[in-house]
Amino acid sequence: MTLERILFDDLEIGEIAMELDYEPPQEIVRWGLETFGDRVAIVSSLQIDTMAILDMAYQINPNVRVITVDTWRLPEATLEFLDEVRAHYPQARWEVLTPDAQEVETMVERHGADLFYKSVSLRFLCCHIRKVRPLVRALQGLDAWFTGLRRDQWASRSAIKKVELDHDHGGIVKLNPLADWTEEEVWAYLEENGVPVHPLYAQGYTSIGCAPCSRPIQPGEDKRAGRWWWEQDAPKECGMNCPIETGGFEHEAEIIL
Ligand code: SF4
Repeated sequence: MTLERILFDDLEIGEIAMELDYEPPQEIVRWGLETFGDRVAIVSSLQIDTMAILDMAYQINPNVRVITVDTWRLPEATLEFLDEVRAHYPQARWEVLTPDAQEVETMVERHGADLFYKSVSLRFLCCHIRKVRPLVRALQGLDAWFTGLRRDQWASRSAIKKVELDHDHGGIVKLNPLADWTEEEVWAYLEENGVPVHPLYAQGYTSIGCAPCSRPIQPGEDKRAGRWWWEQDAPKECGMNCPIETGGFEHEAEIIL
């Protein structure tokens, strides 16, 4: 296991980013695995993008680390799919993160189990406690992480680089191998390589998160329209992959945390 930390500064990562920005996803994945060894992991919610990255990584190093978060509000189909994916990639090293039980209990006592429907701030709070904080704890032990972000997914993702420093998580390296791929390219990769696909896509879902906060989209709707659809003008982000303007949920978070 690689114990030594592998850190870069802004200048170094800027040069690497320029060098790698025209490389295909497989080369970004290879560079990440070879550079960081055990100090890098794929963070996956089992949607198509990180499934493609997992497949690419597995072909290079089957012992790749994969982190996923069980928020305790996931659809049953996601938990079943996780078993299927683990069987498909048996040598991958999985880490299933969970929220802090005491934090969830306090949040639910104060605001109810379905607090996310009450206000955007409470939705951010729920995402923060169930998703973001477990991920932050895990990233503290890493020097780099792979995300499935693509520039065409949502406005907040349009300027991402394939390799960047993640100042929101201690200056570790964030790798976005699919940054310049389209969704069509991802689907083509999955099909060509026989990669397992989450069963809810076949039911019209285009973005899959927790059960109460995800639904199929209607024809003509934006691909992220099935997430937190009751909110007006709020970012369709949970804060795991991209920082969000939180609109004041911190006050509630301080009370709970
Ligand atoms: Fe909570 Fe919904 Fe966020 Fe899941 S997606 S953590 S249920 S607000």
